[in-house]
Amino acid sequence: MHTHTCCSDGQLTPAALVDKARAVGLHALAITDHDCIDGLVEGAEAAQQTGLTFVSGVELSVTVGDKEVHLLGYFFDPAHPGLGEHLAAFQKARQERAVQIVARLQALGIPLAFEAVQAQAHGEAIARTHIALALVEGGHVPTYGDAFEWYLQDNGPAFVPKPQYPAREALALLHDAGGIGVLAHPGHWTSDATLHTLIHAGLDGIETIHPAHDDMLTQYYRQIARDFVLLETGGSDYHGSRPDDDGNLGKYTIPYPRLERARRAAQALGVS
Ligand code: AMP
Ligand code: MN
Ligand code: MN
Ligand code: MN
Repeated sequence: MHTHTCCSDGQLTPAALVDKARAVGLHALAITDHDCIDGLVEGAEAAQQTGLTFVSGVELSVTVGDKEVHLLGYFFDPAHPGLGEHLAAFQKARQERAVQIVARLQALGIPLAFEAVQAQAHGEAIARTHIALALVEGGHVPTYGDAFEWYLQDNGPAFVPKPQYPAREALALLHDAGGIGVLAHPGHWTSDATLHTLIHAGLDGIETIHPAHDDMLTQYYRQIARDFVLLETGGSDYHGSRPDDDGNLGKYTIPYPRLERARRAAQALGVS
């Protein structure tokens, strides 16, 4: 329920990802690119040919106060005009941000050209991932991890935040588009205060199963989901570029009925 394609910062095309999902034995797959739904048509078509259940998804960058959190949207109508408008504007802001990050790197003495970053991005969506890959390819840093540690990580010397997009607005937009909003990988950065704010803003579910969660964190978030009557989802956050990705795809899964329950929740929201 949580994967990336080359439409954002993943490696595989949507069709190749669907094939891979089938090969590892998955019965259902959601593609959840960062602030981007460009891969959904190709993914849905490829899934239909192989008999895989395909779920429309997106991973929205949203804010709670000045904190960035990631909201997974599912089951929305990909043709919803308001959603399309938001994503187009956000991608433009991402491009401008990438230009600013490159300018910061240049001010730090690194002769990285913006074209080298664009060459790493297959689609329009540009993420720090692509800047990190360009830094490695240009020989400016030894490894991808160093690119983040030295320059790109949050509040690092070349970091530029994304525009503010309040979670409450994002949840209202997903609901208007017939979908649900689920907090991605809360174990990454999310404080309990932020989680409670999200719940009061209309959050529908929590991604309890994720490679960043050990058994204790998984149980912790499962209990919160039960207490607040929230849906539970899970996924590998597959990008295809990280050492653990291939082992994780097909391993961080949820039982199929949990997917169906989430689908029914989205349908119920549309009816009310
Ligand atoms: P962006 O959405 O442009 O801020 O880029 C975020 C992406 O960069 C994430 O989805 C990860 O794929 C990657 N990323 C963020 N922080 C790190 C980090 N500290 N080390 C490695 N990759 C990271
Ligand atoms: Mn990513
Ligand atoms: Mn994320
Ligand atoms: Mn992700």
